[in-house]
Amino acid sequence: MPYAELGAVNFAPGQLPVEIILGKEGTQPFAIEATGVSRQHAKITIDQNGQWFLEDLGSLNGTFVRNEHDGSKHRVSRLAITPMTFIYLGPDNSLGCKFYARQAVVAGNFTAEMQYLVMRDQEVEEDLKKQEQKALLLRRIISGLTLIALGVSFLLPKEQTDLKMNLLRIGTILSSLYTIIYNPQTGRKKIVEKRNRLFDCPNPCCSRKLSSQDVKAMQCPGCKGKVKPNPRIQSSTTRKS
Ligand SMILES: [Zn+2]
Repeated sequence: MPYAELGAVNFAPGQLPVEIILGKEGTQPFAIEATGVSRQHAKITIDQNGQWFLEDLGSLNGTFVRNEHDGSKHRVSRLAITPMTFIYLGPDNSLGCKFYARQAVVAGNFTAEMQYLVMRDQEVEEDLKKQEQKALLLRRIISGLTLIALGVSFLLPKEQTDLKMNLLRIGTILSSLYTIIYNPQTGRKKIVEKRNRLFDCPNPCCSRKLSSQDVKAMQCPGCKGKVKPNPRIQSSTTRKS
């Protein structure tokens, strides 16, 4: 979960109090498309003293928090929370939405997270290309050895029957090894499949698996990468790499 790696939420003087409405039509920085979430579901308030509160706005499916000690879920109507309180809107499945309180407050980092994924995707691509080149080199060596074995077996004089036979056998083994080692078609397919499972959408209420194309286009086909940055609030963006 990329957002969880980001640093603390900092407020400049005069920024408080802050109020964030959570919901399908809320003011949180990320899109919520989950069906179990009400239009205006809950509210996070940070008062003048920097104290965080979570309040349910009469939602249909309820607002819950996770107990950090035993992982249990509790329904809340109004509760003092911290930036790291884990919030569930609605049911704890694909119909609901879950995230850390701080994620609902920091400016929308969707674009920054996508740029990070593009960078990671390039690294993965380069790694896979190197693997591919190694396999192809091995394939060339094997096919070279096969040709040598078969060629020599034909050039040998008639009376060297045993040696001829052995060289033919070696040639046959090598050529079957060649077909096993690396097949450019299935190899490419595997690489594409592997890359398509690597990245999650940076929107905490989406978490859809992104394909390499999605990452390159910097857009998630699920939530369309909808982010509403809140320019009033800054967050320190020191990432633990
Ligand atoms: Zn998404």
